[in-house]
Amino acid sequence: MKDTLRHKGLRNKLVLEIKNKGISDLKVLNAIQSIPRHLFMDSSFLDHAYQDKAFPISAGQTISQPYTVAFQTELLKISKGDKVLEVGTGSGYQTAVLCALGAIVYSIERQKELFKKTSLFLPKIGYYPKKLIFGDGYKGFENEAPYDSIIVTAGAPFIPKMLLSQLKINAKLIIPVGDKIQKMTVITRVSKEKFDKVEYGEFQFVPLLKEKN
Ligand code: SAM
Repeated sequence: MKDTLRHKGLRNKLVLEIKNKGISDLKVLNAIQSIPRHLFMDSSFLDHAYQDKAFPISAGQTISQPYTVAFQTELLKISKGDKVLEVGTGSGYQTAVLCALGAIVYSIERQKELFKKTSLFLPKIGYYPKKLIFGDGYKGFENEAPYDSIIVTAGAPFIPKMLLSQLKINAKLIIPVGDKIQKMTVITRVSKEKFDKVEYGEFQFVPLLKEKN
């Protein structure tokens, strides 16, 4: 499938829309501008790819709303070469945004079907996360810890301790916390034992579920 001038035009409009909603980090806006979101979606939703909305993907999951992706990514404040852990690979769209920003990306997905599909798809369109993992994101990925930042892209009922323990000092965990509605929460590890917490607005994600499937 192609990325046409029409798609690029629609992306320009989308970038303007999320800029008007408050996203100001140029690197994040450029990443959204450059990534063909329509390629991450099932064909029945192609016409909607550049609306600022979440849409269904396989396995009863969703590709997040572009504004939400941009909001979480802006909070991460990524520098080139940062080692980032993502929980909830899903379609791979957020993974691609992290790759576009020059992060070294590890991403975990608990649904086998999505894990397989996205593992094949991302390199096909030129995005190369360091490792995609089929596993339970509640446990993080100890083998490569500690991370410069961790992003969770599903609604967590609580903050998993194992994710906190895999942060470097001064690193951040960005996680939507809550049941039906979540508060975007940023936890900064200020020392080995001490963590600071800041809460942002409300979002709605599919739930972070236990174990693999
Ligand atoms: N980042 C994704 C994207 O850009 O398409 C958003 C995906 S969706 C909102 C959340 C994803 O988290 C789903 O693919 C879901 O299967 C996954 N997920 C839920 N619980 C998980 C867990 N415990 N470990 C890893 N992935 C999980």
